[in-house]
Amino acid sequence: MIPLAIPNLCGREGEYLQECIKSEMVSSVGPFVGQLEEALAKACGAAGAVATASGTTALQSAMATLGIGRDDLVISPSFTFIASSNAISHTGASPWLFDVDDRSWTIDPALVAERLEKDCRRDADGTVRHIATGRRVAALLPVFTLGAPADMDALAAVAEAYGLPLIVDAAAALGALYKGKPLGATGAVFACLSFNGNKTITTGGGGAIIGNDLALLKRAKHLTTTARVGLHYDHDEIGYNFRMTNVQAAIGCAQMENLEFFLRRKREIEAIYRAALVDNDRLRPFPELPGCRSTFWFSGVQITDFDEQKMLGLIALLRNAGIDARLFWKPVHLQKPYKNAQQTGMSVSERIWPQVLVLPCSTQLDEKTQSFVIDAVKTALRAI
Ligand SMILES: *Cc1c(COP(=O)(O)O)cnc(C)c1O
Repeated sequence: MIPLAIPNLCGREGEYLQECIKSEMVSSVGPFVGQLEEALAKACGAAGAVATASGTTALQSAMATLGIGRDDLVISPSFTFIASSNAISHTGASPWLFDVDDRSWTIDPALVAERLEKDCRRDADGTVRHIATGRRVAALLPVFTLGAPADMDALAAVAEAYGLPLIVDAAAALGALYKGKPLGATGAVFACLSFNGNKTITTGGGGAIIGNDLALLKRAKHLTTTARVGLHYDHDEIGYNFRMTNVQAAIGCAQMENLEFFLRRKREIEAIYRAALVDNDRLRPFPELPGCRSTFWFSGVQITDFDEQKMLGLIALLRNAGIDARLFWKPVHLQKPYKNAQQTGMSVSERIWPQVLVLPCSTQLDEKTQSFVIDAVKTALRAI
């Protein structure tokens, strides 16, 4: 099977792992965690980074750091990986699920502004409250779908008007640019990354919070490392064990040395699929807002006249041909745990999601294999 997206360990991963073994620093102590945090902050144009055990726990601790918790509502899109919503739920808050914009597949800023205006009121102390549930609206959490930036200027304007912090789920967006600006300069308090095995860089499993407020980052580090004070067993609040290990960070440091190469390959692969498959009427490329640079974490096409049945038929043909093609995210409001979540109308998310075909896009994919995939897609499209 030609894989969808697998790790590319072509750098110094083995060498750095050997260093962990030789030094016997395989756990929470060791130099690689700090080195990875520095490399991430630099790559994102941010003041600092905190490495975590996963992207999900990065999101959860980013919210916890800002005091988001029980009974709060966090505005986020329904068209996302379920982890965005799970992280909100793990803090004790609930997601308020929004539809996405057809042009970017990211949260629709006009819809957010409209619902805040119509469904919420301000308490005397400025707290934004959702009228029907009485819950505080605590944050705005856009997702950079497939690594493509959301409309951050519009979202930052809404966030500012309502005094809401912006936290970006940038799990697959390391290296994305919004109007030329890296993740650290998009106006968000925090951006959260994932280094799961299928992401652009991997640490086996892991994540990070990046940001510019050093005091908040320090607090995030404290919370994610059991809220320990000093050398002994003193803890000043209920913290989490969300730390990344030196072994994971060692892999991450080696991966970061190849980040530019990986990003270039992702764009090359996407460009080849686009040139071969996209035609203006029926097959559309994955979105990228004007002036923005997506990381194209995954490549593929939108088949605009498909429903779920047809897409599953196409995918079955591709899988028979030995190609690991898949459907992309099923929206969160259609998932069992979130059926009753607070939500807007979802016409765009419900139309788009069964039309998104993701295709093999590992950075080591060679031209010949990609041509084979393209031919198989064209053949299968004629057969459906
Ligand atoms: C991968 C991903 C996550 C979760 O990251 P993990 O490291 O798997 O916990 C969250 N949100 C989005 C949008 C993702 O793509």
